[in-house]
Amino acid sequence: MLKQQICILGATGSIGVSTLDVIARHPERYQVFALTAHTQIEKLAQQCAAFQPTYAVVATVELAQQLEHSLRQASPKTIVLFGAQALCEVAIATECDVVMAAIVGAAGLPASLAAARAGKRILLANKEALVMSGQLFIDAVRQSGATLLPIDSEHNAIFQCLPNGFQRDLASSGISKIILTASGGPFLNRDVASLHNVTPEQAIAHPNWVMGRKISVDSASMMNKGLEVIEAHWLFGAAPDKIEVLIHPQSLVHSMVSYEDGSLLAQLGNPDMRTPIAYGLAYPERIASGVEALDLSKFLQLNFYQPDLQRFPCLRLAYEALRAGASAPVVLNAVNEVAVDAFLNSALGFMQIETVIAQALEEIPLQGVDTLEAIFEIDSQARRAAHTYISNLRH
Ligand code: NDP
Repeated sequence: MLKQQICILGATGSIGVSTLDVIARHPERYQVFALTAHTQIEKLAQQCAAFQPTYAVVATVELAQQLEHSLRQASPKTIVLFGAQALCEVAIATECDVVMAAIVGAAGLPASLAAARAGKRILLANKEALVMSGQLFIDAVRQSGATLLPIDSEHNAIFQCLPNGFQRDLASSGISKIILTASGGPFLNRDVASLHNVTPEQAIAHPNWVMGRKISVDSASMMNKGLEVIEAHWLFGAAPDKIEVLIHPQSLVHSMVSYEDGSLLAQLGNPDMRTPIAYGLAYPERIASGVEALDLSKFLQLNFYQPDLQRFPCLRLAYEALRAGASAPVVLNAVNEVAVDAFLNSALGFMQIETVIAQALEEIPLQGVDTLEAIFEIDSQARRAAHTYISNLRH
């Protein structure tokens, strides 16, 4: 069997590490072509020593020099590159078959989109890329013949529950709605009044999943689910009112598809990202992921209920941005990134994340998002506004 050449954008993150774990279980199928990181040089050096990629990419020339130095013995054939353009170059290289898009936030968009335009198999974890570029991304996939496989566990679950040959049209497949499940995060049952005072450490302590810091805060605010609603809209061609969110604290049912005939198809599994990652790597085959099968006899309950939008106003804002369309999701995403960063640096209260996003959505006029340049122009504008709002809240 010809080995598939894999590029992992964001190799040092939570998804990147899980991807390498799955790849290491199947050396006969996969070879690592490129690994990228931002600043975690030591971790990247260890990964390069273990997987001997052709390329490694980091943020700056100084970091590249440091990495080159530590790889001299450990992985002498690895070529070290740096900068945002290099992320795109490794993603579109002809030798590369599969791109795991696992950079966090807007920074992942250019390379993910480049991979889509180059017709790669894209394993999409970087949901922010699709939230920002929606139609542009989907058009690029269609025009190039790329294969887009969702890695977010919810969208991966839905993908698994869809009929063969699904063409981004719910009605023609007899689908009445898509149901995204949400754990509810660490603050599901906490007194709402006390949410103003929660600390970053409390917010990132997710009950079921081990993830990067940004997505962990997004899970606590349920902005993560809001971004996923927008992601589902683009992936599956689902109108906002056909996408329902249900709280499911056990995180065992990863999402569901409801059909017109009354059937509800669900995908279940232990909460471990290696399952959707292995699915994406091997699709349409199935391979071992290292995740144990779920033993249903050990679980007493599967609970589901409607989210409380008073407690989770960010989820409401995401639906509003999706309905508004055009640049609203770009603004939502950019301001959320700035606000979450400020919260993690103790410069903003947890409940103020929503305040800042709501203000931006209200004040920044809707604009067109037809090109990558236009999207990043709006992204910058929204980030500047967010910094101003945050500084006003502090004074
Ligand atoms: P992490 O924060 O753990 O990792 C982020 C990765 O992106 C790291 O490799 C980091 O490099 C790199 N990175 C950060 N900033 C930049 C930048 N400006 N330019 C280039 N690379 C950068 O995130 P996660 O792995 O948790 O999440 C990655 C993506 O996957 C997110 O979009 C998230 O929403 C999505 N996702 C994650 C899930 C999870 O379980 N973790 C589940 C579903 C989706 P460095 O380490 O050097 O900083």
